Amino acid sequence: MFRRWWFVRLLRDNGPGAGAARRRATKHDRALLLREWEVIRDRLAVFAAQRVTAAGEVFRAAELTLPAEESAARADYLWALEAFEAAGRLLEDPADLPELAAAAVLAERAVERLAAVHAEHAGRRPDPPVVRCFYNPLHAAAAQPPARSKVKASRRPRTGAREAAADRRPSCRDCRRAILAGEVPDVLPALLPAGATGRRSPAALVPYYVVPQQWSVWAVTGCGAYDDGVPALVLRGEHRRRRP
Ligand SMILES: [Zn+2]
Repeated sequence: MFRRWWFVRLLRDNGPGAGAARRRATKHDRALLLREWEVIRDRLAVFAAQRVTAAGEVFRAAELTLPAEESAARADYLWALEAFEAAGRLLEDPADLPELAAAAVLAERAVERLAAVHAEHAGRRPDPPVVRCFYNPLHAAAAQPPARSKVKASRRPRTGAREAAADRRPSCRDCRRAILAGEVPDVLPALLPAGATGRRSPAALVPYYVVPQQWSVWAVTGCGAYDDGVPALVLRGEHRRRRP
């Protein structure tokens, strides 16, 4: 979805003594970058709204009444409903791209959990949870990591730095291929405001996961992909308290 955004670009400050030409270029760069951010935001807003709407249709068609003795399924059902509600809440006034991505992620996770609840209720084994790509949780599901634990350490093939980097986080096939090729994967960007990391620090468009974790719940949780506590956090309105 973000093929055009494949590298980190900085919005430079106009430092003291900078020439007029440099100031013009900087202003031009800033305008270009902000326009690009707006284009991505608008596309992502449409996509996220579609995911939330689709989830709403699934919930309406698959309503459940669970008996008290199915306590695990009831807890999962409650979580799915909260995740769906949180996804809708995030669409109301999104602050940045990761919030929109989180709306789509939570809507999809809500539908997945609902399907698991139906399976549990019917006495079937639910599908394993989808593991999302860390670099962009809107990508295809992460490829299964190699089952190395079954291979004796002495027989393991030696892996280089790139293989180690590729194995460090769950990644979809394309992102893994990019990392193995020494390229930057097609990451989800976030806008880091000017002054966020110091009085003179420039605004920057950065991978969402490098935003300091004390400011971004999305950097910590993979846009809600890896943490079941996110829906409750959003519904309490605490997902923005960490912003600078
Ligand atoms: Zn990916």
